[in-house]
Amino acid sequence: MGLFDRAVATVLPVVPRTVVRRVSAPYIAGPTLEDAISTVTELNGAGKRATVDVLGEEIHSGEEAQAIASAYRDALAAIDDGGLDANISVKLTGLGLKLDLELCHELLEGLVRDAGARSSFVRIDMEDATCVDDTLALYRRLRGEGHENLGIVLQAYLKRTLHDIADLRELHPSVRLCKGIYVEPSSVAFRDADVVRRSFVAALDALIEGGSRIAIATHDEALIAASLERVVTLAPGAYEFQMLLGVRESRATELVEAGHPLRIYVPYGQRWYEYSLRRLQENPQMAGTIAKATLGRAVGRT
Ligand SMILES: Cc1cc2nc3c(=O)[nH]c(=O)nc-3n(C[C@H](O)[C@H](O)[C@H](O)COP(=O)(O)OP(=O)(O)OC[C@H]3O[C@@H](n4cnc5c(N)ncnc54)[C@H](O)[C@@H]3O)c2cc1C
Repeated sequence: MGLFDRAVATVLPVVPRTVVRRVSAPYIAGPTLEDAISTVTELNGAGKRATVDVLGEEIHSGEEAQAIASAYRDALAAIDDGGLDANISVKLTGLGLKLDLELCHELLEGLVRDAGARSSFVRIDMEDATCVDDTLALYRRLRGEGHENLGIVLQAYLKRTLHDIADLRELHPSVRLCKGIYVEPSSVAFRDADVVRRSFVAALDALIEGGSRIAIATHDEALIAASLERVVTLAPGAYEFQMLLGVRESRATELVEAGHPLRIYVPYGQRWYEYSLRRLQENPQMAGTIAKATLGRAVGRT
């Protein structure tokens, strides 16, 4: 990220919501489940799998958590009815992780059962570092209760990740490996981009060694290349690449054309703002994109 982009990242929270909405449109299927289903249908038509994310963070009550769980049940039903190749990705804070761990367990278990009955799968996204212990504990609990159709995410920027891989090894977890997106202190996370890359590759090697099913979630060409070297030794069902909707779509298509399984993360819902800010902060062309959109808005006003 250049200096100008950093400056824009700092002011992003004060950019008008209408502008954020416009420039983040490619990253989000739309406000409704129908939008998500039509995006998934299109992706499946292009040979890409999908995972559906109901946008909703920062909940403040059990009712809000129930509403998010209910939206996910609707998504699982619609995916099943449409015969689509898609599963769901859930954020545990949206299911009450910070409010009530028992409620969170109950809602997550309900979704895992529902997904299981439909031969589908639940991926538990990983959120900021304060969520990791409880998230992994809930994952272990559900696996201990006999549920197999769920997986976790591990973040290469966290210094603890190799230890977590070793600790989880006997479960042969299904793991999505990513760099990690939250702003974390240097006491828990690597900050240097090359160190994070090295950690990603070390984690990937450890997961392969441990016989995990691995979802390689990155748009970073160096990491895609390192992964391609490694997946040649793996069975087709043992790995997939994953990318975010709206990011490096032509690279995703190339991977599919080269015969690699690939899944696209498809967020939808009314609560688009926080997700959009994170995507815009990662977009290397963000300064220009925001400037154009803001100018467009100013021009549109006159
Ligand atoms: C499927 C999926 C699921 C994820 N789940 C989680 C999760 O559960 N928890 C978590 O903490 N993080 C998650 N992430 C985010 C991840 O941690 C990274 O923050 C994100 O993927 C960017 O890192 P990168 O490896 O793609 O490398 P980067 O170095 O950020 O990106 C590499 C290149 O990709 C392109 N690019 C990346 N982002 C954008 C963008 N927004 N707009 C335009 N171009 C872009 C650019 O060309 C950039 O140079 C997920 C990512 C993916 C792909």
